[in-house]
Amino acid sequence: MLYSVRMRAAQGGAHEKGGRHISGAERIVTAAKVKDLLNEMFDRALYHSRGRADFINFTVEQVFPERVKTVELLDIHTMSAADMKEARRFAYTKLQEAGVAEKAIISAFYFLDGLKESMRGAMLVDAISGERLDAGMRGVRVSRMDAADDQALAEYLKRRNGDSLHAREAVVLASKVISAPNVLAELCWSDDPEYTTGYVSSKICYTRITNLKEVGSDIGGRVFFVESNADVRQIRDYLEETAVLVTVPEGGK
Ligand code: AMP
Repeated sequence: MLYSVRMRAAQGGAHEKGGRHISGAERIVTAAKVKDLLNEMFDRALYHSRGRADFINFTVEQVFPERVKTVELLDIHTMSAADMKEARRFAYTKLQEAGVAEKAIISAFYFLDGLKESMRGAMLVDAISGERLDAGMRGVRVSRMDAADDQALAEYLKRRNGDSLHAREAVVLASKVISAPNVLAELCWSDDPEYTTGYVSSKICYTRITNLKEVGSDIGGRVFFVESNADVRQIRDYLEETAVLVTVPEGGK
């Protein structure tokens, strides 16, 4: 039997009561692994570089294997940027290649740079008009996903010099996001003050980009670019509710 195990932690009270988001985690594991995972997530919430959480919420929920969808891991590439300006130029080009209009790329950077505090989830932005399709600070929280085979993913990432907890979680999340109906691309940088590598993902690939944000900034964010006239509710439902396991491609080098 599989379980979806989720953690969200905040400081100054629960998220819904205005607490500041500290960290979150999403896994799908067998029953035998649940207890250890809860311990690990508890430590992660308490000893996070963004501060010490005083509200921690755990959810453990059974997942029916017949309802789990599998999707393939995105092909991973890395672009090393000398500084933030170059990193953003790379991100811009990658988003354009994914079919995102210039106006929408400019809006996304404007929205992310304008955040005074990290959101818990991601913004949804129209890939042509650049209009924001969600409201407020919650955003769309991608949930119920994991690697189908942890070990295989770790080895695959090691071969690409990218095996860190950050990288693992990000590629799993991004692979689910891109498999959603009408999602064209994603732009992300972390809210971890020490982690400045961000990424752009598209149906074609996942591109890690170094120096995408300033060192020391604890404001991160994600934008999901969606096709115009997309059914936003359907996208949200899929990202939040459908359990997804991400597989490493056969013979993945
Ligand atoms: P992280 O990569 O975990 O540092 O997260 C960077 C930003 O992405 C956070 O500040 C949130 O705004 C957003 N984010 C984190 N986790 C999720 C998630 N599961 N679904 C959607 N957005 C997320």
